[in-house]
Amino acid sequence: MARRGQMVVVSGPSGAGKSTICKRLLLDPRIVFSVSATTRKQRVGEVDGRDYHFLTIEEFRKKVEAGEFIEWAEVFGNLYGTLRKPMQATLDSGKTCLLEIDVQGALQLKAIGEPGIYVFIAPPDFEELRKRLVARNTETPEALERRLHKAEDEYQERVKYDHVVVNDDLDRAVARVKQILGLDEPART
Ligand code: 5GP
Repeated sequence: MARRGQMVVVSGPSGAGKSTICKRLLLDPRIVFSVSATTRKQRVGEVDGRDYHFLTIEEFRKKVEAGEFIEWAEVFGNLYGTLRKPMQATLDSGKTCLLEIDVQGALQLKAIGEPGIYVFIAPPDFEELRKRLVARNTETPEALERRLHKAEDEYQERVKYDHVVVNDDLDRAVARVKQILGLDEPART
């Protein structure tokens, strides 16, 4: 019988440092990133198939109809979804499958009873979050406000997660997530 790895869902408001934490977690060979599909435009530096599978809206819709997504949601006007197959393959290999998805997607997975560890990354405070988003400088002022509103809404949902990790210190936050996953001991080779 196939070994069953664990699924870990990491969500949190944009700017809370979720991506940085995930990048650090992925340095551990026992953890595999679940590459989502999206209809949003590819950003400079992003690689198709590594960061996301970039799809047209039509391609995405077809996959929705074919039941290829275990969850999907619209985020900031674009569609994002987790493909069942690669996620299953990771779990079957006994590895930890890391899903970096938004709150809507995470709650869909909870609602269908998908076994896993649900971790919410929280910013130390919202002023700090605003500063981080401004410093990132990837948004127009309107988009920035939208992200902050969404961040506040998402923050209210943190109680539905198994764990809330406050990202006041990157090393500490990464260590805490690894501890939650039972991966705080280094990988044995
Ligand atoms: P970005 O466009 O900045 O890469 O991601 C925007 C938001 O979409 C982030 O909150 C990210 O976690 C979320 N996201 C990425 N992939 C998925 C997915 O497969 N499903 C859902 N529901 N959200 C996703």
